[in-house]
Amino acid sequence: MSDPVLWELVCVRCAARYPGLEVRTLCGCGGTLDVVHALERLKGVVTAQTFDDRLGARQGVYRSGVWRFRELILPLDDASIVTKPEGNTNLYEAPRVASYVGLDALWLKHEGENPTGSFKDRGMTCGISMARRLGMERVAVASTGNTSASAASYAAQAGMEAIVFVPEGKIAYGKLSQALAYGARTLQIDGDFDAAMALVQQICAAEGIYLLNSINPFRIEGQKAIGFEVLQDMGWQVPDWIVLPGGNLGNNAALSKGMGELLELGIIDRLPRIAVVQAAGANPLYRAWVSGEPMSPVKAETLATAIKIGDPVSFDKSMRGLRACGGVVCEVSDQAIMDAKAQVDASGIGAEPASCATVAGIRQLVQAGVIPAEARVCGVLTGHLLKDPDTVVSYHRGSLDGIASTWANAPISVGSGIESALLGMRRG
Ligand SMILES: *Cc1c(COP(=O)(O)O)cnc(C)c1O
Ligand SMILES: [Zn+2]
Repeated sequence: MSDPVLWELVCVRCAARYPGLEVRTLCGCGGTLDVVHALERLKGVVTAQTFDDRLGARQGVYRSGVWRFRELILPLDDASIVTKPEGNTNLYEAPRVASYVGLDALWLKHEGENPTGSFKDRGMTCGISMARRLGMERVAVASTGNTSASAASYAAQAGMEAIVFVPEGKIAYGKLSQALAYGARTLQIDGDFDAAMALVQQICAAEGIYLLNSINPFRIEGQKAIGFEVLQDMGWQVPDWIVLPGGNLGNNAALSKGMGELLELGIIDRLPRIAVVQAAGANPLYRAWVSGEPMSPVKAETLATAIKIGDPVSFDKSMRGLRACGGVVCEVSDQAIMDAKAQVDASGIGAEPASCATVAGIRQLVQAGVIPAEARVCGVLTGHLLKDPDTVVSYHRGSLDGIASTWANAPISVGSGIESALLGMRRG
């Protein structure tokens, strides 16, 4: 049979405890749940070397950039684990982008290089494996696109039925194509992501379907591996800052939780500071952060559809993590996001709009003197360039509403002859 259950679910608000295998996404009090591991028994047993020894595994679950850190993710038995494998993404040194943001050096962890093109795969392998462990046959998500692509793919691999709820007409084409192609039942709702999120929670509760949004605490466990892998990539030298975009806020909550656990185990000796970047039109965390007031939902509007979320489910976890690591929150305009994206793309790396909020945010924080030029900074690029081809082409054609195409590289039509082709090549 399976390994003993070595984790519990603990409410973030009231500290109520639930058994590790209970199918439950929220506490009775309405708070979100943490997976709490029995870390004590890992002290001195699991070290950086444990994880380094698994690098280069040719087969089995340790090929995964998530399951390589299994003891800290979820100590599941091999038979439950559904992996592609995911992770093992590049950490690029990006001098051109560094000079754009005003840093001496900058590292970009490209999570768009995951199997379905976003970091969601790291959470999804964990969520789907848990679904298998629990014997679930149907899974569901609400999504701005990437979660649906990832859930659809992993469910197909696991032989489960996936049901995805997306806001009609509001998700990028690359992502919608994936959900359809991987065979998910795709329900387009007349409403935004926040409405889809509320709906999917009701439907999962009523129908006994396993919910795979990041409100599911096991998703968060898998996503911690972004931070673990960054550290492993950097030889376990803690960067000064890790910067990432914030939408539903699961990813930054995962990052801070994972770093706290590494610190507790003595694998690192200090925490990196975390900066969360929101789009100015979808900024409930930023507002709460500057006002000190409780979060109030906003009506979200931004070109960066992956972070177009006005009522984030992981707000409590996110705040807790930011306080623990001396974190900061900033907001950036869509213009700043698209300018940063043009720079990331033209450097040959490339990423989808929401990912480039990271770079726009770093630039703002450097200009404001929050991040010094000599700091060691790692930015997380969350999704692949090809996720949202329409926004890219419109930007380069100069036809994005309300956005100046600062670094447009428009296609040039040259007919069919050599003369006009040569003219096109030389045109300024
Ligand atoms: C999901 C997603 C985000 C936002 O992450 P949260 O955990 O919801 O804050 C950012 N960028 C991309 C590309 C995403 O897919
Ligand atoms: Zn509670």
